[in-house]
Amino acid sequence: MTKKNIPFNQPEIDERIYPYLKQVIESGKLSGDGPMGKAAEKQIENLFSVRHALLTTSGTHALEIATLLLSLRPGDEVLLPSFTFVSTANAILRGGGTPVFCDINDRTFTIDLGEIERRLTPKTRAIIAVHYAGVSAEMNEIMELAERRNLVVIEDAAQGVNAKYRHQFLGKIGHCGAYSFHDTKNYISGEGGAFLTGDDVIARRAEIIREKGTNRANFLRGEVDKYTWIEPGSSYILSDLLAAVLKYQLDNLEPIQKRRKQIHDAYITRLKDLENRERLRLPIIPSYCESNYHIFYILLPDEAKRNQLMQSAKARGVNTTFHYVPLHSSPFATKVLGTSRLQLPVTDNVSGCLLRLPIYPRLKNEDVDYIVETLHELLA
Ligand SMILES: *Cc1c(COP(=O)(O)O)cnc(C)c1O
Repeated sequence: MTKKNIPFNQPEIDERIYPYLKQVIESGKLSGDGPMGKAAEKQIENLFSVRHALLTTSGTHALEIATLLLSLRPGDEVLLPSFTFVSTANAILRGGGTPVFCDINDRTFTIDLGEIERRLTPKTRAIIAVHYAGVSAEMNEIMELAERRNLVVIEDAAQGVNAKYRHQFLGKIGHCGAYSFHDTKNYISGEGGAFLTGDDVIARRAEIIREKGTNRANFLRGEVDKYTWIEPGSSYILSDLLAAVLKYQLDNLEPIQKRRKQIHDAYITRLKDLENRERLRLPIIPSYCESNYHIFYILLPDEAKRNQLMQSAKARGVNTTFHYVPLHSSPFATKVLGTSRLQLPVTDNVSGCLLRLPIYPRLKNEDVDYIVETLHELLA
């Protein structure tokens, strides 16, 4: 094999976005909620059968809208998995609440149901369910539990755009949800996200928070004759220029997902023998989930073997990466949130053993061949 250098990720972007950008430039309107932004929102609502989609400046900001909507009081608690991106926890702090970290289950690496029960207190107000790698959390059970305890469920579907749980698109199953269109995600606008909800009342308040705390959206619809300050908010609206990039992606939803699935299936088929020989563990997609193939990971037997493989693969030009440093053992959480003695064994184990392989539409078949052969060679 001649040596290659395969990037870990490459955004799916080329000159096909120019006509979309041209349209915005010619409209002379670069701020948000213009024709392009509105068209992209409508398309998200139609594609994913969700009643309200509001484009935001990031997935992080969509989560912040969700936690600001909770009107948390000091001491109010929100449950989340420790195995997630830092934005999930930051959003809880931004909303004035206390993050309470839960362990994940060992199959899909999403929040563990037993852990939710264990960590509920009279102060618990909400659960943030994070869908990992494009595979759903156990939403029916989470929604049932939330209903019994009168809790709000927020879906962090940053990685779950165009993925399903029991035939429903992710992001619209909980009371509200968040998508991310960051460069590293399946569908991108560079930076960007969306807030989603099926509830008209929630949508109205989200509009206000997203528009600097004003009722400008009502004003633009002609429902009030001036707009004014209604509650604390921020500036969370995506520019129409970035909405144009997103619109191109939404118009290419299926080809992007199809190529990701091809790569995923090739990895599964061609790494199976290594799993049979217990060199690694392949990802599990439960029958009730339809993945969007956001992440492809393998699990190595231990952290030393994972780090060793990451290094030797890199030396051969295969760039891989780990996921995540568990939030409960991060410097901020241990110092400020006092989580240093919290035991989350599944989180720690997965975080130590997981290795992500390249998966993106422009990854060539010959690159997949090279990655598979490299892994066979290194794990022989
Ligand atoms: C990417 C990601 C986010 C943040 O999205 P941004 O658009 O980068 O702000 C939040 N949660 C999870 C689980 C993510 O993967």
